Amino acid sequence: MKLVSIVVPCYNEQEVLPMFYEEITRVTDQMTRDNPELTFEYLFINDGSKDKTLEIFRSLADKDKRVRYISFSRNFGKESGMYAGLKNAKGDYVVVMDADLQHPPSFLPEMYSYVKDGQYDCATTRRVSRKGESKIRSWFARKFYAIMNKISQTEIVDGAQDFRFMTRQMVDAILDMSEYNRFSKGIFSWVGFNVRYIEYENVERPAGTTSWSFWGLFKYSLEGIMAFSTAPLAISSLLGIVSCIIAFILMIVTVIKTIAFGEDVAGYPTTICVIFLLSGLQLFCTGILGQYLAKTYLETKKRPIYIAQETDELYRSRKNEKNEEESPSDDDN
Ligand code: UDP
Ligand code: MG
Repeated sequence: MKLVSIVVPCYNEQEVLPMFYEEITRVTDQMTRDNPELTFEYLFINDGSKDKTLEIFRSLADKDKRVRYISFSRNFGKESGMYAGLKNAKGDYVVVMDADLQHPPSFLPEMYSYVKDGQYDCATTRRVSRKGESKIRSWFARKFYAIMNKISQTEIVDGAQDFRFMTRQMVDAILDMSEYNRFSKGIFSWVGFNVRYIEYENVERPAGTTSWSFWGLFKYSLEGIMAFSTAPLAISSLLGIVSCIIAFILMIVTVIKTIAFGEDVAGYPTTICVIFLLSGLQLFCTGILGQYLAKTYLETKKRPIYIAQETDELYRSRKNEKNEEESPSDDDN
């Protein structure tokens, strides 16, 4: 028997969760019929939702033994949700997917066919279009991938997603990367292994809204660059060297102008320009340095990546206790 864990991070997903559950069980039931060796568990992560997501988890756990869940004490972000899922998944294979059906469960049989005979360690999807996304957002996304792949040794595939069907071996490798600043797209790629990409057209959400704002995505992309590249540090040193060279050339030019041609140099405007340029450059570079230092600071604190407040186990044991209290068996009397 092979257990497949399906990890689903959820943040305010009450609208799509029932739809998702129906679809995922339909697909996995069919997979069990086609591959009798397969069994499934669904591991939902509630990332501090403010709506009825947790209530939905509880009611799913009531009616389906395969449903497990972990509920965070607050919103920790999708990266933490995925980490918690991978860490607690018991499966021989682990699937990570979004709850919003933008990662269609119908891909699972095809994904399984790639990993089952050991040919691949991971099957994942790659969006070939960004249909339904604003032009500006797509442009920034493309630029991000272009820059990222230039300055980082870790390849980040454009359009690659966090929809993955992985073997236990790969999951363990990912869990070994216990860093606090998690950028999954980089982590998935950094661990290597044989990855099979399945290309598909972007699908829009059937309900609910995306929790990513443009600014949020922008910050996330900077996180990605900092987590997987130290190029900005090198670039800031380079800027320093270049401005030194320029200053040196200017100095020589000024000296020659004064000695050879007896020209007066207009002092005030040039000084102001140089002060602005150089102090700006210095602050910029110190800023970059500071960002890396801040990341290092957070890493050294070794804070937990997430805090679980409730799990299905806790919920089920509480429920059993309550049932026993309400209907004490005859032996107790
Ligand atoms: N998500 C999460 N925590 C967050 C934000 C999002 O667990 O802080 C989940 C969300 O419920 C969904 C997945 O991450 O299952 C992707 O989120 P979303 O659809 O908002 O992102 P997009 O598809 O637009 O990239
Ligand atoms: Mg989505």
